[in-house]
Amino acid sequence: MAEPKVTAAELCEVTSHFEEVRNRIDSICQKMHVDEGITAKLKHCKRELIVNFPVKMDNGAVNIFTGYRVEHNTDRGPGKGGIRYHPDVNLDETKALAAWMTLKCAVVNVPFGGAKGAVACNPKTLSRSELERLTRRYASEISIIIGPESDIPAPDVGTNPQIMAWIMDTYSMNKGYSVLGVVTGKPLEIGGSRGRFEATGRGCAICAQLAARHLGISLDKATVAVQGFGNVGGTTAAALAEYGSRIIAVSDSSGGVYQAKGLDIKSLLRHKKETGSVRDFKDGDNITNAELLGMKCDILVPAALEGTLCTPNAASIKAKMIVEGANGPTTAEADKILHEKGIFVVPDILANAGGVVVSYFEWVQGTQCFFWREEEVNERLREIMDNAFHEVLEVSQHEKVTMRDAAYMKAIERVARAIQIRGIFP
Ligand code: NAD
Repeated sequence: MAEPKVTAAELCEVTSHFEEVRNRIDSICQKMHVDEGITAKLKHCKRELIVNFPVKMDNGAVNIFTGYRVEHNTDRGPGKGGIRYHPDVNLDETKALAAWMTLKCAVVNVPFGGAKGAVACNPKTLSRSELERLTRRYASEISIIIGPESDIPAPDVGTNPQIMAWIMDTYSMNKGYSVLGVVTGKPLEIGGSRGRFEATGRGCAICAQLAARHLGISLDKATVAVQGFGNVGGTTAAALAEYGSRIIAVSDSSGGVYQAKGLDIKSLLRHKKETGSVRDFKDGDNITNAELLGMKCDILVPAALEGTLCTPNAASIKAKMIVEGANGPTTAEADKILHEKGIFVVPDILANAGGVVVSYFEWVQGTQCFFWREEEVNERLREIMDNAFHEVLEVSQHEKVTMRDAAYMKAIERVARAIQIRGIFP
């Protein structure tokens, strides 16, 4: 019998993700003596757009879908952030994700602010033409705020390069000319960047490598468990396997798979493509998501949804370090438990920033109509991740705070400075 699907909500209950981000911003701003007005600005989103729009389904019925586009802050540059298609999305989650984008762009020092979008839908149950009609209508609805100089979407959970292509085409048709820079994460044929698809996972793997060096763990002997086997989880697992680590367990929303000798990631990716899940892989044993999280391993990579590491399961985590591939996978309470247990956490706004770094490269390449080799993209990505990791580590050591607080401090310092220099209009 198929096991029931696990959802983040079954594991953890977080009343408001945005409230958690606001509380952390507040406490870091207080610690850094940031001006009250600037703190208040950082605790609010600049724009919150909700759209309810009709889509004609294949059977002729018209269904109404709800979508969001939120810009948290644009003081350092255009809003930047993915678009999520998932049945459970809501305004609160989108606001939290937009705020994390502001902080993430600032940690890696790319000239963008933070934004995020979402549509409440299950893309797995929509036909390709329904998905296209939904995407084009949503893109039209949010085109009053998106644009290459104002707010630039990208893929996130449930969306992909094809969906970005439809958004770019819709926006361009309404303008009357092709606008490459309106989205990133596009297919190569229409101005995508080499290395963008793998960038978030590569960035996570680079962070794992730097953290392992710092902790004296040798990555080529390390064992790894990865929660979530989509873009981020799959590419992080593949990159860490290339570095010689043993990926002993991975999971997706239908459960997980374990192999003490290490899973063959390439054939597991094929198995997931063919069957839609990692379960029942011929060279592994089925496990639950809870078993994966509590597994003895060196590195745990949560790369599914937010709030999956929380009070009920944080105490059972045995990993030496956590590299947060997902946005907001650890609740504030769980974060304290992990700290008390001495687990080194590379926070989301640093660990998964590789995606937005190469999105920035894609935007730069599109603006200049001059495209780089993949080696060039990867070299520049490594340089930025390396710098950001060491800047955050230095703050963490100097201020005697966790890597998460250090990353927030670095980010808030940059955003607050931009707000201060620009001044408050009018
Ligand atoms: P995706 O849709 O490609 O993959 C998500 C994976 O998580 C799927 O394998 C799904 O089955 C699994 N999953 C969902 N709920 C789960 C649960 N409760 N337990 C275990 N697995 C579960 O999405 P993605 O792009 O890989 O994004 C994953 C996370 O990374 C999200 O938090 C996203 O915001 C973040 N992120 C993505 C990017 C990017 O470039 N795609 C960049 C930065 C951060």
